[in-house]
Amino acid sequence: MMEHIISVRPGFGGFDELYEKARVVFLGVPLDVTSSYRAGTKFAPAKIREASANMEAYLMSAGLDVFERLGISDLGDLNIIPTDLAATGERIHKVLQELRKDEKMPALLGGEHTLTYFSARDFKDAFLIQLDAHRDLRDEYVGDKLCHATAMRRVLDFIPEERLIQVGVRSCSKEEAEFARTSKIQAYTTEQVLEDTNKVISEIVKKVEGENVYLTIDIDVLDPAFAPAVTTPEPGGLATVDLLKIVRELGKLNICAFDVVEVAPPYDTGATSFAAARVIYELLASMASSLE
Ligand code: MN
Ligand code: MN
Repeated sequence: MMEHIISVRPGFGGFDELYEKARVVFLGVPLDVTSSYRAGTKFAPAKIREASANMEAYLMSAGLDVFERLGISDLGDLNIIPTDLAATGERIHKVLQELRKDEKMPALLGGEHTLTYFSARDFKDAFLIQLDAHRDLRDEYVGDKLCHATAMRRVLDFIPEERLIQVGVRSCSKEEAEFARTSKIQAYTTEQVLEDTNKVISEIVKKVEGENVYLTIDIDVLDPAFAPAVTTPEPGGLATVDLLKIVRELGKLNICAFDVVEVAPPYDTGATSFAAARVIYELLASMASSLE
């Protein structure tokens, strides 16, 4: 499994447990090849790790330290082949296969959102909950069938429409809107989330309860005021405190894997990578407290 991985120390949180003891295993996927506006997501795994090592792992909301309750290990970063998406996807698949065999929960640090197309393939039986400003439902974008703007459309090649749930969306093309309208995709706009967050959460919980859930968090679901360093900023988004609340609730579900994507450190003063790290901690804490 380690043949395509570059070891990185310290790992997430700076407290690295042995792989054998770990329940959650981090993997950086610095995939950064298709961004249409600005690039830089390849630097995200390192910056999110750096942020995670410089904030509390004790969560006031959960009243626990995630490293005391969950074994957490970090494999390092996948060695990306920038000119070969398919081969890179194959490497992601190989690592995920190993993690599943060893009954570890993968925690992926993007990288661009395209990586979810590859990672979600290993969880075809799961519901996919996507927190994102964008719907990523284009059938193609500037002639490209597989890129950050088409990632969720491609996911529908193997996950049924009714198993994709989009949360916090507020931007799409006319083509995407028409496609989504005639599909069985469930979506909640940013406004719907803000109007009644509890209602949205309880509808989602009701729909997916007892099922496996793959959670993909595109950090641009946050407003650019809270997360300015993303490849495609979209105004009118959630505040970090809203996202933390949502993640805290979703963490109680049967999460089988999650990823955090689209942080672009070249535009960051720290706000975005720290927000990403805090969201991950909140999710881990919620998972840890539901273990009891
Ligand atoms: Mn996205
Ligand atoms: Mn997005």
